[in-house]
Amino acid sequence: MADLIGQRLGNYQVTALLGEGGMAAVYRARQVNIDRDVAIKVIDARLARNPEFIRRFEREARTIASLNHAHILKLFDYGQHDDAIYLVMELLMGGSLAAQVRRGPLPAERVAGILDQIASALDYAHQKGIIHRDLKPQNVLFDEAGQAHLTDFGIAKIVNEGTSLTMSGMTMGTPMYMAPEQWQGADLDARSDVYALGVMLYEMLSGQAPFLADTPASLMYKHLQETPPPLQPHRPDLPAGIEAVLIKALAKNRDRRFSSAGDVAAAFRLA
Ligand code: ADP
Ligand code: MG
Repeated sequence: MADLIGQRLGNYQVTALLGEGGMAAVYRARQVNIDRDVAIKVIDARLARNPEFIRRFEREARTIASLNHAHILKLFDYGQHDDAIYLVMELLMGGSLAAQVRRGPLPAERVAGILDQIASALDYAHQKGIIHRDLKPQNVLFDEAGQAHLTDFGIAKIVNEGTSLTMSGMTMGTPMYMAPEQWQGADLDARSDVYALGVMLYEMLSGQAPFLADTPASLMYKHLQETPPPLQPHRPDLPAGIEAVLIKALAKNRDRRFSSAGDVAAAFRLA
């Protein structure tokens, strides 16, 4: 992707690269007309040349912009510039949950706080019929006060629909967080996000995801067949009841899972 640093996209002056994901790069930019710093996610130009993709992208951007919640990152604007299509969002400088988990397991009280915030954001979106589809620690960003904000709602869906990878209609999330039904190409619902939340909860508590493998095939096998390894060896300090919360959040059959993200957070606090 062409380097955009120093360039101007509409009202936005691009100043630095914040990070890169699979199909996009995220830049820091200055919104010159109202003098504020924002984050701009620029989607891969190969996708941005497809008119059908752009039409769907605009529709989804409107949906995401309609989300108004304290723990969902605000979408301000979207636009097109030459070959680039971009989303303008709130800039958060407190780092990601992924960076925190990399440093090791988090204290139980901190986990409960993050879980409450993310779960309330998910329940709010789910009530509006919006599924995240790519919940992972990289998509939880912190502000300077340490509050968690969920980003990239539904982005996995629009990006996937623009790639030949998913002509079948299947949504690829990030393999480590994908629910069994997602591996199987079934329609997703709120409970697929609950599963990914369960993976994140396991990871916050133990410092690593429940299922790790060298190949996609063996990762898929584990998500479809294996019970998560016990948490106890990693966290002898935690009450045993937490194990049951993880097992229920990570149930293979979605009918056996918690039916909402808030239920996961409540059960965790109870345990
Ligand atoms: P991924 O979520 O897979 O990491 P993204 O393309 O969504 O990929 O984001 C790339 C990186 O850019 C993130 O890991 C994060 O560090 C950074 N980033 C994304 N959005 C923002 C934002 N609103 N404010 C600050 N940094 C961000
Ligand atoms: Mg992201």
